[in-house]
Amino acid sequence: MYIFKTEHELKPFLRAKNVNIGFVPTMGALHQGHISLIQVSKAENDLTVCSIFVNPTQFNDPKDFEKYPITTGNDVNLLEAAGNDVLFLPTVSEMYPGGKIVSNVYPLGDLDHILEGKHRPGHYNGVCTVVEKLLRQVEPHRLYLGEKDFQQCLVINKLINLLHLNIQTVICPTQREQDGLAMSSRNVRLAETDRSRAATIFQVLGYIKQNFNTTSFPELKKSGLSLLQEAGFETEYLELLEIDSLKILSDFIPNSKMAVLFAGKLGGVRLIDNIQIQS
Ligand code: AMP
Repeated sequence: MYIFKTEHELKPFLRAKNVNIGFVPTMGALHQGHISLIQVSKAENDLTVCSIFVNPTQFNDPKDFEKYPITTGNDVNLLEAAGNDVLFLPTVSEMYPGGKIVSNVYPLGDLDHILEGKHRPGHYNGVCTVVEKLLRQVEPHRLYLGEKDFQQCLVINKLINLLHLNIQTVICPTQREQDGLAMSSRNVRLAETDRSRAATIFQVLGYIKQNFNTTSFPELKKSGLSLLQEAGFETEYLELLEIDSLKILSDFIPNSKMAVLFAGKLGGVRLIDNIQIQS
């Protein structure tokens, strides 16, 4: 695997290859969720590029940034084993030259004001800032994203449209632990007792999906919230979204693609997950 730390080395190398590039941007502390994206990219492209960059401008909570796990040696081993071709490992000063560690502002509309946008002010402008830089550095044909970060997928699709970039996004399914907990770099920060309770998120989302034909969303939400509270969660939101209109719904509607999205903290560790529902 080739490892590059600067755009100056990366770009000419990739351009000289002149092949289809699949790109998997990450913040490292890699797990099977990330590796599944690498595998899909490898199957669909001539060359796969993974980036690892813990982007300071997308952390609205400085403590979350400080505590973000960094496991570069293990990440390199996992990527080698998965057959990843190129790893881009830029520094903060490479991505934000001149010490200007600030986000651009993007017209993201409703996406910036609901759910993650509402609860993490500035987060998506930070994400878009770094993703725009990375896309211009890597110049991929396809971009691989995980459905676990459902709203982020919508935001990045919007960014690509806003920038008129000719890049296809490929949304890959959420990889889960055996008990249903969505794999996440933050899971390693969970205390042992919290780790087993964390599966409640998936149980609640599954329960809502199983019962949406017979029970109203407010009723399902009420039971879901109390189960989450019993498990020790401080829920930030458990909401129903109509995917096409980006409207938060008060109840299920017919003939619609919807998603139930959760965010909350368990023992100070913030976790998110979602499930899609087609009525
Ligand atoms: P992150 O390193 O958390 O920024 O994630 C990098 C990419 O991996 C994003 O597109 C995530 O949505 C994706 N990802 C993270 N966790 C999972 C998972 N459990 N299953 C599938 N994709 C994931």
